[in-house]
Amino acid sequence: MLRVSFALNASREQVVATEQQAHEIVIVGGGAGGLELATRLGNKLGKKKNRAHITLIDASPSHLWKPLLYEVAAGSLDSYAERLEYLAQAHWHHFRFRLGRMDGLDREKQEISVAPTLDEDGVEIIPRRSFRYDTLIIAVGSVGNDFGVPGVKEHCIMLDTPEQAREFHRRHINACLRAHTQTAAVTSAQHTVGIVGAGATGVELAAELHDTTRELSAYGLEKIDPDKTLKLLIVEASDRILPGLPPRLSAAAAERLGELGVEVYTNERVVEVRANGMLTADGKLIPASMMVWSAGIKAPDFLKEIDGLETNRNNQLIVRATLQTTRDDNIFALGDCAACPMPDGKNVPPRAQAAHQQASLMAKAICRRFRGKPLLDYEYRDYGSLVALGRFSTVGNLMGGLSGGSIMIEGALARVVYWSLHKMHEVALHGWVKTAMTTYAHFISTPTRARIKLH
Ligand SMILES: Cc1cc2nc3c(=O)[nH]c(=O)nc-3n(C[C@H](O)[C@H](O)[C@H](O)COP(=O)(O)OP(=O)(O)OC[C@H]3O[C@@H](n4cnc5c(N)ncnc54)[C@H](O)[C@@H]3O)c2cc1C
Repeated sequence: MLRVSFALNASREQVVATEQQAHEIVIVGGGAGGLELATRLGNKLGKKKNRAHITLIDASPSHLWKPLLYEVAAGSLDSYAERLEYLAQAHWHHFRFRLGRMDGLDREKQEISVAPTLDEDGVEIIPRRSFRYDTLIIAVGSVGNDFGVPGVKEHCIMLDTPEQAREFHRRHINACLRAHTQTAAVTSAQHTVGIVGAGATGVELAAELHDTTRELSAYGLEKIDPDKTLKLLIVEASDRILPGLPPRLSAAAAERLGELGVEVYTNERVVEVRANGMLTADGKLIPASMMVWSAGIKAPDFLKEIDGLETNRNNQLIVRATLQTTRDDNIFALGDCAACPMPDGKNVPPRAQAAHQQASLMAKAICRRFRGKPLLDYEYRDYGSLVALGRFSTVGNLMGGLSGGSIMIEGALARVVYWSLHKMHEVALHGWVKTAMTTYAHFISTPTRARIKLH
């Protein structure tokens, strides 16, 4: 699309037509941050196609909000029912979507390269492509960091993508079905799930697995005794679970996990993962039949010093408060793949709420840039942290309030606040009316939906 602008040449009193290309905005990664940004920019700028082209590129054809992955793994959420097709969202919100995995950058040509897309048999569907940009926003999120520990790749599942979460669920269900139908007696702890890392992902997964395995037994797999057949254990290197959150929140979560029968090993650093368990630094083998690695994250490896951009040891692109990368004003980064410093010297934490805030700010900032105004500075606002501990229990802290500090919340209120974070994401994508309608539809269909995914 070409933009034709007219400039008045005062001396000759003549209108001169100049042709200028529409501004190309390319967003890579349609996750918690990138998809919200593409939707907002599409709504604001996309209709006037002669002003800007907004292109979203993602390695996957559909979007699932990442904090839901532990529910997919435990079987309490059907990822196929919850996903959002990028092409449809692009059509509704005036941007275009292109499928593919970014693997290179040429800053001089202002181009990114996208690897060929292959089908399950390795046959090429889409060839290698490149996309030109005037403004590039990288929002490719993070992946699990195995810190080079041997055996993680071979024996652990990570929860980075819906495919991995579904793979975990499939193996878990198969282990339960095997136990239910075997002729020999089911032994205690026959199916042991070991989770390495007691951050929010590990803790939430353990509690949710406890609940869904109970449901499975109630649905007719009665040979499975959820308190005996399934053993859940978490191994954590630091001295408490949820080490990134306030100690009293860790204590409340630890108490709840204790009630659920989850075994927690703290001060135990896993140095090797074997087919039959996790070896700790002091030589102890903690046996497990299935293992999940949720001990830390890093930005994807392809970002490491990509075409001379500044990155840290976790491959995150270092950005300024405007979210511009330190060495290129036309390249921005947001969400988990960005290292954005805060006034206290720490980086903005890798959270959905940060990605959401950054996407809102970027949408405003890019529109300002179009009007020739300066960019805006991002300031992280921590509204608190919430950890779901199964269906009926949530603990967390809310920041702010009258005290200006943090207030600890638990139970139903915490559950509602936890749930509202996802709803805010949906509102950013669909607006209030559609979100209210789909939420209502979800509730009224509850009696005809299984509480857990059984296959
Ligand atoms: C199980 C779990 C529970 C969590 N719970 C919470 C919570 O309760 N609260 C909270 O605040 N945060 C939570 N988080 C963290 C939160 O999910 C992330 O901080 C947030 O999703 C980051 O958003 P993002 O936009 O940076 O990346 P993501 O949402 O991860 O999206 C990245 C996107 O980039 C795409 N992509 C990746 N590489 C490429 C490439 N090379 N080319 C093209 N596309 C690519 C991916 O397909 C994906 O769509 C949780 C995370 C997990 C795993």
